[in-house]
Amino acid sequence: MSTDTTPGGGHGVPTVASAARLYDYYLGGKNNFAVDRDLARQIEQRVPEIKRMARVNRQFLGRAVDYMAGHGVDQFLDIGSGLPAENPVHEVARRHCPEARVVYVDHDPVVRVHAEALLADRAEITGVIEADMRDPESILAHQELTSRIDPNRPVGLLMVAMLHFLPDHEDPYGLLRRYLERLPAGSYVAISHVENETAPERAAALEQLYAATNSPGQTRSHAEIARFFDGLELVDPPGLTHGGDWAPGPTPVPDAADYMPREHTWGLAGVARLPG
Ligand code: SAM
Repeated sequence: MSTDTTPGGGHGVPTVASAARLYDYYLGGKNNFAVDRDLARQIEQRVPEIKRMARVNRQFLGRAVDYMAGHGVDQFLDIGSGLPAENPVHEVARRHCPEARVVYVDHDPVVRVHAEALLADRAEITGVIEADMRDPESILAHQELTSRIDPNRPVGLLMVAMLHFLPDHEDPYGLLRRYLERLPAGSYVAISHVENETAPERAAALEQLYAATNSPGQTRSHAEIARFFDGLELVDPPGLTHGGDWAPGPTPVPDAADYMPREHTWGLAGVARLPG
């Protein structure tokens, strides 16, 4: 994987597109460069629904945090947090608990620069770590995390639009377990993941186009994504479902104006509790 240059990284104008900046572009953000926009336009040609997919995913993230915080979780670990965007985790969590603690992790240096600036006013309860998700032991031992998150109390682990950046040969299932086995019972995990059964050709195009970014990836089938939840207590209803349909109990359903049927936004999403 090339980490190449990113704004804030001090290396000038980037020449390799980044997953964080592409996602920022899809969501209407301004933290992207020509190399990202050029690739994003190619992606839009082959996957015209990409911006809606990003919005649906982002809305799922907000609802998942709302659900966890509504069930008493007041500390969150957001892996692959992305650039600051609408409804960030700390804002959603603070609606339930003003002192909720959130640690953001991303391997893209530009994310850390922006997140640190955004969070400076509450740095005692919000941390930012620049790290690769494939090193959970270092992330969980990092001082930014240990000074904010109590390892003996439930944590909301967010792996939202993340695990598809790990190909099978890097053992994404084993990686998730390495996080979960270090979290206490009663913790929650939220996962969303691009699937490849609804629109196989467009999913293949997405994989092919992301091979040119700093985060190549792999889409998966429903069964393969369901495997991430093995041994966990899936919140059901809604279960593992289309991200736009993920709305348990009293959580508000997605805004009708933004709603897209599964045929046009092929991401699966679920939330589960660690038993015990
Ligand atoms: N989780 C956020 C959300 O759903 O709104 C952002 C998702 S964005 C599609 C994926 C993020 O994962 C990007 O910011 C990218 O930099 C980050 N990422 C990709 N591979 C990573 C890795 N190996 N370690 C840490 N972060 C990674």
